[in-house]
Order: sequence, then C-alpha cells, then structure tokens
Amino acid sequence: MADGFLCIKCGQWHDKLPLGWGVAEPIYVAKLTPAERVGRVQIDHGAGVAIIDGKTFIMGLLQIPLRNSERFFTWTLWVQVAEHDMENILANWTNPRRAEMEPTPSILVDYFCDYPECDRLHVWVHHQEPGKRPLLELLPCEHPLYKEQTEGIDDIRVREIAMAMYHPMAARLGDQPWDGVVTPELLFGDMMKLD
Ligand SMILES: [Zn+2]
Repeated sequence: MADGFLCIKCGQWHDKLPLGWGVAEPIYVAKLTPAERVGRVQIDHGAGVAIIDGKTFIMGLLQIPLRNSERFFTWTLWVQVAEHDMENILANWTNPRRAEMEPTPSILVDYFCDYPECDRLHVWVHHQEPGKRPLLELLPCEHPLYKEQTEGIDDIRVREIAMAMYHPMAARLGDQPWDGVVTPELLFGDMMKLD
C-alpha cells in the first residue's frame, strides 16, 4: 500500500496512509470539560484502563483484515466492562498466563470516524499476554463495523478512513469542539506497529 495519498477532501497530498487509528479517550471523557473531569475521571493511557464516574473501560485493538493482504487495519478503541470483570482483569494484569483468561464481555459506545453511532455494540475482549493490548471482537450485528471485521476492507476504504480522520468530526458533531482522536503514532509510538 502506498505511503501517502492525494486527499479529495482538502486537495492536498497526505504523507501518511495509516493502517490504524486510535480513539484517545472513551466518549464519556471527551464530552467532559477539564473542570468536569476533576474527581470523575481516572485514565491511564499507557495501560489502557479508565474509570469514569464509576464505569470501567479498557482499551483494545479491533483488527480488520485487509483484502488481498496478510495484514490488518487496526482500530484502537475503548470498551466498557463490568466492574467485577475489570477487577479480574487488573488482578491478572501481570499474570504470565493472562492470555488464557476467558474473554470478557464488553460494550462499545462511541462516535468515531465516519461510522454511524456505535449504539452499545457487544464486543468480546480477548486477553493477550502481559504487555499486549487485548483484541476486540464484535458480536454479530447490523453495524458496518461488524461487516468490515468479518469481510475485510480494501485500500479505497483505508483512504476513506484516513480522510475522515484527517478531517474529522465536523460533519458529525456540528459545532461541538471535540475531535477526540489522535493518530496511533502519537498515542502509542512503536506499540502500534503490528509487523
Ligand atoms: Zn486532506
């Protein structure tokens, strides 16, 4: 896949065509002002865990197969897990056998990219060995993200996603000032490199 692309939204050349993007924070956080966050939000971006108003979230990777390729496109997303499940996850955080844990049920509630609102989509969190982010698996549903997860996407769609992410959210959120989204390089450095 090419390194960059000509963008039909701004008419400029973008040097990077990322094969992954991340949502920086759960939408519950993004909606809060800095003052509102105080005392309500505990978030550890490195570990990828957050507690917001008593709700617990974990960051995971949703991998979408690239058609005609062995590689994946990766969404880094936050999903909500039950409090007792989060306790179990944290109790096993450094357990060398963490990958053998049963998958944890979770829900995705978010806006991102050009997808329709993810209206409480059900997601399995598949735990990996310590140091690796869990993998997310959407349960069957009508949402286009599920279709992409199961059928894969092509390079045209990768460019479409990049355009929606480089020129984010204006259409979706109207005059709200949130973009809530940063590149995976910015967030995770080398951690996001999958190959
Ligand atoms: Zn552009």
